Amino acid sequence: MNKIRIVHRSSRLFQPLNPVQKNIQAKNVDLTSLSQKLMLDLGIIKQSSPGSFHYLPLAVRSLNKLTKIVDEEMANIDAQKVIFPTLTYSKLWEKTGRISDVDSELFKVKDRHDGSYILSPTHEEAAADLLATITPMSYKQFPLKLYQISSKFRDEMKPRFGLMRARQFIMKDLYSFDLNMELARATYDQVCEAYERIFKLIGINFVKVLGTTGNMGGSISNEFHFISKIGEDKILSCGSCGYRANVELAGDELQCPVCGNNDKDLIKNGIEVGHTFLLGEKYSKPLNANFMGINSNAVALQMGSYGLGISRILAAAIEVGSLEHEIRWPDVLAPYSIIIISPKDGSKEDSAVKDLPLEMYRTLDGVFCDEVLLDDRNALTIGKRVLDAKRTGYPYIVVVGSKATETPARLEVIDVKNDEQHYLSKDQLVDFLQGNCANKSHSVTN
Ligand SMILES: [Zn+2]
Repeated sequence: MNKIRIVHRSSRLFQPLNPVQKNIQAKNVDLTSLSQKLMLDLGIIKQSSPGSFHYLPLAVRSLNKLTKIVDEEMANIDAQKVIFPTLTYSKLWEKTGRISDVDSELFKVKDRHDGSYILSPTHEEAAADLLATITPMSYKQFPLKLYQISSKFRDEMKPRFGLMRARQFIMKDLYSFDLNMELARATYDQVCEAYERIFKLIGINFVKVLGTTGNMGGSISNEFHFISKIGEDKILSCGSCGYRANVELAGDELQCPVCGNNDKDLIKNGIEVGHTFLLGEKYSKPLNANFMGINSNAVALQMGSYGLGISRILAAAIEVGSLEHEIRWPDVLAPYSIIIISPKDGSKEDSAVKDLPLEMYRTLDGVFCDEVLLDDRNALTIGKRVLDAKRTGYPYIVVVGSKATETPARLEVIDVKNDEQHYLSKDQLVDFLQGNCANKSHSVTN
């Protein structure tokens, strides 16, 4: 099928840009972060109410890429995607005793019949209750891994850092169910390995540490962190013995509890981007999530819970990788990999090679499916549009400029991350991008 594909044009893109503001002191410095400022200024997100945001088209494109990476890794471990309801009966949280632990952070709603619900921050109860309603469940149906990617809600006292500590956020949450603790442990390790693969694909340095189980409960917990000075967790990472733990667990002694190492860079700040728990029966028992045992008796399932902060990963990656006024996305999450800048209206190139930008768009779009944007705001100078492209953080900028009128035509390609520019023929340009661009695997094969 050779259907004509839509041309993605900057002139049509909903990206409300703020002008570059240098050295302006933000109002709430302690509540603001680099990623928040960049994402607001560059029209990636807009705030709706404290801790609640509109995700604009570029954010959604990036989130879709992250979702695709997660979905592929989840398919590899035989996890199945579902959507749990946002509203969870309060009585389920009463049965597990959790409602009183986290009461002040819950958004609660009532229906017209006075039924009580919470806007779910997490779905252990909902997932356990789902299985409890299906009886009898044969042992043959396990292990079972169900996950979703959806909006979650937490009534933060002090929302801050944009998407990083929001009241409404996007989380990927997975719940595993196994027949016994040994099998549950194997599932736990398998999911943690999948999470490590996801973080490696994103390409931001991360650390996996021992974590506290907190009000979630269970026997084992791990956290995944991006290291950043605005991170709100303290991480102990020992270079001598390899012990890595949240300081809440390791103790605030400024030395490694295993080997006594007391290097001064032992403790770092981390942004928690993933958290896993081996829960055991904490939720399955009170909610009757059982399978049918050998003697037809009901046996409680062993559960695990695994969260990935999807919207937080996006913000944290920008936080860690960006420059003061320019976003740097992980290559695999850039909203578009390539932007083509066409000549300014009325310029020499404009009359000489008028059709070249669209021709290049079609060529590159054929190789890098859906990864190319054409900046056709031709009333603006090329320089102004290159600046916007760098601020927005597209990895490769192709400029149809004065050298495009030479024979053979040469195009300028700016490799933004490496701060390099090259003048290449059309064929050389395609080769160069195929060799360098992270998203070539997304090219059309179907
Ligand atoms: Zn150590």
